[in-house]
Amino acid sequence: MHRFFVPPDNIIGRQLILTGEQAHQVAQVLRMRPGDEVVALDNAGWEYGVRLTAVSRQQVTGDILQKRTAVGEPSVHMTLYMALLKREKFEWVLQKGTEVGVNCFVPVITRRTLGQNVDIKAGKLARWHKIIAEAAEQSGRGRVPKLHAPVRLADAFRQLQADVAIIPWEAETAVTLRAALAGRAAQTIALFIGPEGGFVPEEIEMARQHGAFAVTLGKRILRAETAAIATAVLLEYEHGQMGNGE
Ligand code: SAM
Repeated sequence: MHRFFVPPDNIIGRQLILTGEQAHQVAQVLRMRPGDEVVALDNAGWEYGVRLTAVSRQQVTGDILQKRTAVGEPSVHMTLYMALLKREKFEWVLQKGTEVGVNCFVPVITRRTLGQNVDIKAGKLARWHKIIAEAAEQSGRGRVPKLHAPVRLADAFRQLQADVAIIPWEAETAVTLRAALAGRAAQTIALFIGPEGGFVPEEIEMARQHGAFAVTLGKRILRAETAAIATAVLLEYEHGQMGNGE
């Protein structure tokens, strides 16, 4: 069943009203008709079963049949501090990270990121938000992951507040992900992934000074985008969030 994140103002009493691009998508793209049912989510933790009553390109209305807690959210909150990558790679991480359960994306400028400017054009940010929202709808998330403005790595460490912070580093040979998590009932996780060129040793030292664990992901060198998703999945799995315990 199709799922849409809708502005809470579009839920009026027992009625849902869609306008603009969402009405166009329902009427023209999905070619839905009165009587069809959809799931609307308010991004505040609720989802609504809705039966459409009127469908046009300008406006779609529906009767709310049920209100229930939105499902699809992991019990652990993960913030992915992702070094800026080439556009298609970075956008791939936003999409796949949303599917596997990342709650918040923070683009990070590091010593070796190709771009060194924290100011991202509004059009690019809007595209990133759209990629995340569409991936959240497709994957059945209960909330749309947040996307923060880009920060420099030092500032990311300064604002760090997670129960456990993980920074995979290909030069680390001893500390495993499981060892870093051992005995910690982490509710919030911060994950730092470097750029195509990797972190410089000084950045790893800074991470450790802020309590982060440098860990190995094994003997093979993963591309940055691979490392991001692989580590996010491993962390979700270690917290029983990949069909293995929630
Ligand atoms: N320096 C790497 C090289 O020699 O090609 C490039 C860095 S790698 C493409 C990008 C990021 O993925 C790294 O900063 C690290 O966060 C992570 N990474 C990739 N492979 C890893 C591994 N085997 N162990 C730990 N981290 C890894």
